[in-house]
Amino acid sequence: MEEPTGRLTPKKVAVVGGGLVGALNACYFAKRGFDVEVFETREDIRQAKVVKGRSINLALSHRGRQALKHVGMEDKIVSQGIPMHARMIHSPSGKQSPIPYGKKGQFILSVDRANLNKELLTEAETYPNMKMNFDHKLKDWSPETGLMTFTRLDGSHDQIQADLIVGCDGAFSTIRKQFLRRSRFNYSQTYIPHGYMELTMPPVNGEFAMKPDYLHIWPRNTFMMIALPNLDKTFTCTLFMPFDEFEKITTGDEVMEFFQEYFADTIPLIGVDALKRDYFRLPGLAMVSIKCSPYHIGDKCVLMGDAAHAVVPFYGQGMNAGFEDCIVFDEIMEQLNEDFSAVLPEYTRVRVPDDHAIADLAMYNYIEMRAHVNSKWFLFRKHLDNF
Ligand code: FAD
Repeated sequence: MEEPTGRLTPKKVAVVGGGLVGALNACYFAKRGFDVEVFETREDIRQAKVVKGRSINLALSHRGRQALKHVGMEDKIVSQGIPMHARMIHSPSGKQSPIPYGKKGQFILSVDRANLNKELLTEAETYPNMKMNFDHKLKDWSPETGLMTFTRLDGSHDQIQADLIVGCDGAFSTIRKQFLRRSRFNYSQTYIPHGYMELTMPPVNGEFAMKPDYLHIWPRNTFMMIALPNLDKTFTCTLFMPFDEFEKITTGDEVMEFFQEYFADTIPLIGVDALKRDYFRLPGLAMVSIKCSPYHIGDKCVLMGDAAHAVVPFYGQGMNAGFEDCIVFDEIMEQLNEDFSAVLPEYTRVRVPDDHAIADLAMYNYIEMRAHVNSKWFLFRKHLDNF
């Protein structure tokens, strides 16, 4: 833990959402010496038996690592990740061809989402000026007074006021609802026709079933599958496919026909029984791209992470960009002496174009990964994106 900077009368900062970006952001504000409270709707995931949420693992890249480094977390998280030096393209016949991510020695990391979230919460709690409030679901808040109302599982309510409210409550942000009621707030949301489904590839004789230092991709034009390695020697395979295609497959035999045609090399590795069972465990999950502007209201509230910019996952940069939000905000705080009335508009000015660019690149890679990755042109391109 690094010593917070001193301030005679610490301002109170409420971080709403204790997910990946909220937990990291809490460290940033605590390090600056603010009186920080995190409000998270879920119970403490470090104690929970089942952690519900999106993808099991994520690709962590340079911009995310830089943000972790600033609060002394980079080495710890990197040591718990699995380096992926290249994509491994699987052709329909089962041929595998690597495409490096960058120069020799460059890599991105496969990290466990739940573990990363837990580590960030634990780090945040090491600051004496930090209070975590789990089982606190934001219901409503006032942009005029900064008064927030939270509900708890036992039906009780809590009302809390803060000098600054940081909305890190994800793609379906409750904080953002107040923004939508205001004039000159731009907002767009687009659901893509594809959904995603996660399947597990178990270890073989205690070892990874495929080479672990790659992000495996099966590009099949209108759909694709990817696989990222986990520390327990499993791979999480994610199948991205239009919803109507998911829905066409209704029996175990149809699952097998589909995999036989498009992903035959994975059948012995995932296993026939597991495929027939797990395909029907959960329906395909939706993916949304959200853009908005501005990211702030006065000197009272700012949006970061998915609450400001949910992106489709094909560029592997949603969390990384959210982590970068924290460092960009912190730099502006430094430049403008933590004067919220100057910092918040400057943050919007600097950050909106970059986050919108990431959203556009992610949409572009949505086509690139499943189609162009098959082409020779792709093989010659120098890419620095994640997937
Ligand atoms: P979230 O992770 O959604 O966290 C929001 C938190 O706020 C949650 O804990 C939630 O419980 C809490 N909350 C919500 N509402 C309230 C409320 N009313 N009151 C209090 N708390 C509330 N990104 C990458 O960088 N690399 C990848 O490889 C990658 N892969 C992905 C794969 C998939 C399939 C998907 C769907 C996304 C992927 N992403 C990836 C994107 C990444 O998951 C998100 O960008 C990231 O989770 C955003 O973090 P966040 O903290 O802003 O939001």
